[in-house]
Amino acid sequence: MSDGLIPCPDCGKPLEVMKACGAIQYFCPHCNELKSGKRVRAAQAPQQDTPAAPDATPNQGG
Ligand SMILES: [Zn+2]
Repeated sequence: MSDGLIPCPDCGKPLEVMKACGAIQYFCPHCNELKSGKRVRAAQAPQQDTPAAPDATPNQGG
């Protein structure tokens, strides 16, 4: 299990998490710039192409 490294949404390098006054900021040493938490989180979140489809299987033995 990793420590939960967050990859940069631009270059993929692990970001440095900086907590400041309750706000969390991400800094990429590769891009040498701060990354918007929103973008980082969006990149982290799994792609939601299809909504949770109800997988109903009519397989009831009777
Ligand atoms: Zn980067």
